Amino acid sequence: MTGAELTSNPVVTDTLQTGTSGLVVNEVLFGLAMIAFVILLVMEKLKPFRSFPSKVTKSSFVTNTTAFVFNNIFLTILRASSLFLVAQQFSSHGLLGEMENGPVKWLISFLFFDLAIYVWHLASHHYVFLWRFHKVHHSDKSFNVSTGFRFHVFDLLLEIVYKCVFVIIIGVDAYLVLAIEIVELFFIFFHHANIHVKFEKTLSDYIITPNLHRVHHSALRNEHDSNYGIVLAFWDKLFGTRKEAIPETIGLDIVEAENFVQLFFLAFITERHIKKWLHVIPRGKKNN
Ligand SMILES: [Zn+2]
Repeated sequence: MTGAELTSNPVVTDTLQTGTSGLVVNEVLFGLAMIAFVILLVMEKLKPFRSFPSKVTKSSFVTNTTAFVFNNIFLTILRASSLFLVAQQFSSHGLLGEMENGPVKWLISFLFFDLAIYVWHLASHHYVFLWRFHKVHHSDKSFNVSTGFRFHVFDLLLEIVYKCVFVIIIGVDAYLVLAIEIVELFFIFFHHANIHVKFEKTLSDYIITPNLHRVHHSALRNEHDSNYGIVLAFWDKLFGTRKEAIPETIGLDIVEAENFVQLFFLAFITERHIKKWLHVIPRGKKNN
């Protein structure tokens, strides 16, 4: 979110005073997340966990970072993040609305948020309409830290609306949700990183690690419909969606995009269309 975006929106003017410190915290967190991105990028380059053809890795990086820049410009023009501040106006009656701000409330909010994103991610795989956009993220034939940038802009937009409903129902400060969101961004970078992680087996009992998330990027449906968690490994264990495996192929069988324009239009072509055109029944694909 930019300062200009805030000051030019009359709806949020009265929240500006209380929100300034939250804004600074968010900008610092975002800066740290970007530093983490660069560190993971260097680690991948020095000692990659899995080797991909260099053409695939290069094309993935260029397409994903272009998507990141385009998506941010598009969402800024739409003033999408201001929706959070609109949601804030209605959040005081939510579940935690009466609770005093402090570490306990932050922790409970984080747990609720991580669960809410788990549910959103699961729904994105199970509902044809949401998979239409989410499959763009899975179309990467490589698995690297920049894959964390590869999202369809409508997928992000729908997710923002979903998070606003979260702000209203749970009754938390929109700035807190934005801060938690950036913490989740660290983990998105981490679990997409093509790196060796020390004590990964033990770590994966508690948090989503690259090995767990790599299964989620398998070309096989019974493998990519698993490990929906973002930070905590607990939700997949609780709801029986955890899978430990070594995926043979990363990406999707017949769905691919080699540049940003193809990536954008991929959402408007379903796998059912492709099947019809190609007269093939691809293995392990969604029936849409
Ligand atoms: Zn997914």
